[in-house]
Amino acid sequence: MAMLPMEGWVLKGIDYSETSRIVTLWTKEKGKIRALAKGARRLKSPFENALDLLNLCRFQVIHKGGNSLDLLTESRVVDAYSGIRSHLPNLYAAYHLAELLAEGTEDLDPHPELFGGVHETLQWFSREGPETRKPGRLSPEASWVLIQFEFFYLSQTGYLPSFRHCHACNLVPSLNNAQWTFQADTGTITCDKCFGYQSPYFSQSTKMPPHSKSSLGALFAPSHPISPDALDAAGRLGNRGQCPEVVAEKIRRELRALLNHYLTWLRGRRPKLIGFLGG
Ligand SMILES: [Zn+2]
Repeated sequence: MAMLPMEGWVLKGIDYSETSRIVTLWTKEKGKIRALAKGARRLKSPFENALDLLNLCRFQVIHKGGNSLDLLTESRVVDAYSGIRSHLPNLYAAYHLAELLAEGTEDLDPHPELFGGVHETLQWFSREGPETRKPGRLSPEASWVLIQFEFFYLSQTGYLPSFRHCHACNLVPSLNNAQWTFQADTGTITCDKCFGYQSPYFSQSTKMPPHSKSSLGALFAPSHPISPDALDAAGRLGNRGQCPEVVAEKIRRELRALLNHYLTWLRGRRPKLIGFLGG
């Protein structure tokens, strides 16, 4: 049993008893952990607003090891990202990000680089100025920042698809040629000729999460059409150093649709806030 200082976000909280809550934290040091916050439901809680969702906090945690629940003894807000809470579309984008972390990462599996990406993305959503914010929807700029984050998240968690060449014949997409197909179950792309051929490659699922097919039902096809222009942009995403600074609206909408499709496949259901993320 050791007292550990940690830094991170509260992703979820559920009431546990008359006075306590169980919180899910996503920390730089230990990744995702669950901890008991004693007294968190009291009127004069020792945590005050330091258990609000998506505040960056410094925690003191008694790590018990094994299957025992950790104990959260202290939480102090470092950054509340207050600008996010004044614009609902940006808040929804931040909640979507929290859902990706809560459901797409394992307990006690830290991702220090992803931690930095989460903080930078939340800071961007918080600091977006009124000149670009759009009433009732995510701005094109915010939408693009979110897409870049999601590709980085996929690369950091080991689920970034390969967009470089056709899975079956190795053809490299060239701009303005025929429509390609993305296969969510293998995380690969296929040229129009090979897709039409329906080769045996389609039965070779290399990385399928165990829940995918059963919970989505037979109606959800793993294939999704995508243009070579969008594939060109997708091939450079995932690596934060190589992200294109801006892309045409048409390509951004294609990449949003691709992510909606792929994240739905990975999770086995539609992420809750997909309808609010714009195009
Ligand atoms: Zn091919």
